[in-house]
Amino acid sequence: MNAPRVGILAIQGDVAAHARALARVGAEAVRVRRDKDLDGLAALVLPGGESTTISKGLDRLHLYEPIEAFARSGKPILGTCAGAVLLAREVENEPVRSLGLIDVVAVRNAYGTQVDSFAAPAEGEIPDLDCVFIRAPRLRRPGAGVEVLARVGGWPVFVRQGRALATTFHPELTDDVRIHAMLLDLAS
Ligand code: GLN
Repeated sequence: MNAPRVGILAIQGDVAAHARALARVGAEAVRVRRDKDLDGLAALVLPGGESTTISKGLDRLHLYEPIEAFARSGKPILGTCAGAVLLAREVENEPVRSLGLIDVVAVRNAYGTQVDSFAAPAEGEIPDLDCVFIRAPRLRRPGAGVEVLARVGGWPVFVRQGRALATTFHPELTDDVRIHAMLLDLAS
């Protein structure tokens, strides 16, 4: 059987690390920069990076509507860190146009400057989940349709609404590929 093709939005951010994680779960990673690149993909990843920069790129490349349509057609989508900001219903501070695919409010750079990078174990349904945070957002006010799958310090760090997944941490920066495996599972 052919490996499922999973897209990674390749405007800015940690595209290569996601490609390695996807390869480890048996997917073929495809870089997405135009709407045509979405054709035939099983799932899509919005990587971490800088959500302001990525959102400008989405605008310039006219990718907001095609990505929204891709997800609304039932295809799984994973946003990590800046990608989680882009999936949120609303971005509370600093205007970033988001896709509104997960009913949460994202607060950018919410951990302040002293602790803008740290690792912490999460509590939730996934045992021994170690999370790496880099200038991470916080997710607030999850709506009724949102499942919180993991928390750190009480805050949601991994949420799911239907086939849309968001982590405020960077699963692609550890050896743990369970989040990428979950994305692939949702595609089948
Ligand atoms: N602080 C970044 C933003 O809001 C996200 C950081 C990251 O993706 N590592 O876009």
